[in-house]
Amino acid sequence: MRDLRISVTDRCNFRCTYCMPREVFGPGYRFVPRDELLTFEEITRLAHIFVRLGVTKLRLTGGEPLLRRDLPTLVGQLAAIDGIEDLALTTNGSLLAAQASELAAAGLGRVTVSLDSLDDDVFAQLNDVGMSVGRVLEGIAAAEEAGLAPVKIDAVVRRGVNEGSIVPLALEGRRRGWIVRFIEYMDVGTTNGWRMEDVVTADEILAAIDAVVPIAPVPPRYTGEVASRYAYRDGSGELGVIASVTRPFCSTCTRARLSAEGRLYLCLFGVRATDLRTPLREGADDDTLLELVAKAWTARTDRYSELRSDATRDLPRVEMSAIGG
Ligand code: SAM
Repeated sequence: MRDLRISVTDRCNFRCTYCMPREVFGPGYRFVPRDELLTFEEITRLAHIFVRLGVTKLRLTGGEPLLRRDLPTLVGQLAAIDGIEDLALTTNGSLLAAQASELAAAGLGRVTVSLDSLDDDVFAQLNDVGMSVGRVLEGIAAAEEAGLAPVKIDAVVRRGVNEGSIVPLALEGRRRGWIVRFIEYMDVGTTNGWRMEDVVTADEILAAIDAVVPIAPVPPRYTGEVASRYAYRDGSGELGVIASVTRPFCSTCTRARLSAEGRLYLCLFGVRATDLRTPLREGADDDTLLELVAKAWTARTDRYSELRSDATRDLPRVEMSAIGG
């Protein structure tokens, strides 16, 4: 276990059709009540325990993490933990312009911004709240100014929706020094009506880019790196593909996930979780909590992505927003 993704809220101000479609996450949807969310102190205490087990990287996510009030306070607490080498945040970018400098000052190291298109119409169709590309670009610019660079951009590609955005995003990333990572559209449960036909594969994405600007693979920076890396042959930067569907990486996975209400998942799509909040609130000491986490981790059998790559298999499903992407 090297990476821990911490979801700080299950709420989001976007309704991306592939993640939190409005038909499911509408006005009647029950989000986690405030008192059931882990407090900053609880998150920090658990993070210390994960570090004792080998975690060196933390990523804050959600829902939309910038909706959690006073997030810089949590960032400061996590940045102060001995043994954390990398503290990052994944955001939709819409609230980043206002918060980037405070987050950087608190000790945040990097941001990944999700942006699926540079075309306002396509982007609005995907986020389903009418969010403009310009607002996200302002967030990215603020992050760069605050020193949270190089910014990574994550783009989910869905056939028939935004495959026309692949090349423009790659070219813009190359021009601006972003590391753009294209993500194969994944099944996130019964909510997004996933079909294999909707997946634009990593090979297709890479071929589209290579036809415009030649690229070549580069070795991973470390074992367990989720994105396969490619560099522009002219030395003008790099990009990545996250091919969870066609190139499963379960066997080298070093990631665990902590949901906003304190459940530990050992796979993005895991259906089983270990409740850490109950023992935490019942007064369990650090060693007891550590044992709980270690036991869950060593017994892990999740290999969602490997199984999903055989798209005919019928798996139990879970909503991604419930666990924090
Ligand atoms: N709200 C933040 C954001 O937009 O980055 C953080 C949470 S979001 C769930 C994390 C990442 O999961 C985003 O990059 C999003 O695009 C990705 N994601 C969500 N649903 C997905 C799906 N069906 N397939 C692939 N990636 C998905």
